[in-house]
Amino acid sequence: MPDNSTLQIAVVGGGPGGYAAAFLAADLGLKVTLIDPEVNPGGVCLYRGCIPSKALLHAAKLIEESHQAKNWGIEFSDPKIDLVRLRGWKDSVVKRLTGGLGQLSKQRSVKYVQGRASFENSNTLRVSKAGGGEELLSFDRIILATGSRPTVIPSLKIDSPRVMDSTGALDLEEIPKSLLVVGGGYIGLELGSVYRALGTRVTVVEMLSGLLPGADRDLVLPLHKRLEKTFDAILLNTTVKSLKEESGGIRATFDGADVKEKERVFDKILVSVGRKPNSEIRGLDKTGVKVGPRGFIQVSKQLETDDPSIYAIGDVVGEPMLAHKASHEGRTAVEVIAGHKVAFEPHAIPAVVFTDPEIAWAGLSETGAKEQGREIAVAKFPWGASGRAITLDRPEGMTKLILDPKTERVLGVGIVGVGAGELIAEGVLAIEMAALAGDLELTIHPHPTLSETVMEAAEVFFGTSTDVYRPKRG
Ligand SMILES: Cc1cc2nc3c(=O)[nH]c(=O)nc-3n(C[C@H](O)[C@H](O)[C@H](O)COP(=O)(O)OP(=O)(O)OC[C@H]3O[C@@H](n4cnc5c(N)ncnc54)[C@H](O)[C@@H]3O)c2cc1C
Repeated sequence: MPDNSTLQIAVVGGGPGGYAAAFLAADLGLKVTLIDPEVNPGGVCLYRGCIPSKALLHAAKLIEESHQAKNWGIEFSDPKIDLVRLRGWKDSVVKRLTGGLGQLSKQRSVKYVQGRASFENSNTLRVSKAGGGEELLSFDRIILATGSRPTVIPSLKIDSPRVMDSTGALDLEEIPKSLLVVGGGYIGLELGSVYRALGTRVTVVEMLSGLLPGADRDLVLPLHKRLEKTFDAILLNTTVKSLKEESGGIRATFDGADVKEKERVFDKILVSVGRKPNSEIRGLDKTGVKVGPRGFIQVSKQLETDDPSIYAIGDVVGEPMLAHKASHEGRTAVEVIAGHKVAFEPHAIPAVVFTDPEIAWAGLSETGAKEQGREIAVAKFPWGASGRAITLDRPEGMTKLILDPKTERVLGVGIVGVGAGELIAEGVLAIEMAALAGDLELTIHPHPTLSETVMEAAEVFFGTSTDVYRPKRG
């Protein structure tokens, strides 16, 4: 292995891509500087993404479960919500985790610079420091991990505190009486679910024909059914044409073939229509880095840009824009710089929607197989036959395996149901280890758990599921 101990590396952006890269670089003995505008590393994920949203979704889940307990003879009175304390709790979670990352940086002797970087040339950064002043710093290699930001639709951009993006929604300034969520993707549905649990009447509008475009429809169905009951309305095939502030709220006008009500007034609007890569880094044109038509920085499987000194990782290089993808890319980029023979070539990057029920998938989906014209076998285990799901009073879930019909190899896994986000990790491992349906069938799973549904889906494939009876044909 080459001696890299004198190699100077900069990581621009302290999100899950950037700090994972910086920490591994330090662990491998490289000299590393991490640059980010916040006081500690964390990025979007920790400050205004994954972590605060999951803290609030946990509170939401508790409220929803307290309602459901009525079915089991336990009645709680309606929750009293102390918004200041709830916000404080969410903020304390963020502070604890980002503070922890600050500590880990120090322990590893990562040089943390609080500021914003721009390029002077391929090896030199100008850092505008948070406390004022600038510094020119030179490096052998630079890893860009500048992440992404919410997409703004110009026609819906009005200057009103009633219109929020995901960051504003997570600030949780008040509990509005009514909320229009523009965009039926995972961020809108997660945050809509939080506000719904806190007592807001929520309407979701999605321009396509279904929620969570890209996910298999049978996985989305149980969530859609539940949200139809808890949300005021789910408006599909509908676009928001305009937003106008008036005394009592924001008047939204709708357009689309299925529109029944042309306009309605809402207390607040959450616009969550996707995210844009932060590739407009000042001075990037002084380097050889190339940016593609959708704004993503172009990289190889080794995360190399078109400039030999510069690597890029995370949201700024492409979909899926997820924290765990960013971290793995960050680690790969550092290993490549350290001279290891590696590439970012996962068979499966899991996606999780932390709604209630949760939806999770990894590897090949049915939709993906159809698009590729690839022959697959699908085995589905309905949670109505799962002892654990019934004890939780949540039988609406489903676990499915996407298999190669000839080799019986697990190509993809999809799960909808409570805890799907935790369960999917077994599917990811199965895909990465090239497991066969028979491996899942023969692996003894603990009873009674939802994890048994993975094993039983494999049994369904062989027509021998203990808990699902399928009469033999003929
Ligand atoms: C509401 C919400 C919920 C989410 N939930 C999940 C989830 O549950 N699971 C999941 O996997 N993903 C989730 N995501 C997505 C996840 O946050 C991102 O995929 C992840 O943060 C990307 O990591 P990154 O390292 O690429 O960049 P980021 O986390 O975006 O970090 C980039 C950092 O770079 C800094 N930066 C930008 N330009 C410069 C510059 N010129 N100089 C210095 N610093 C700069 C930024 O300020 C930022 O701190 C969520 C996102 C949102 C908005």
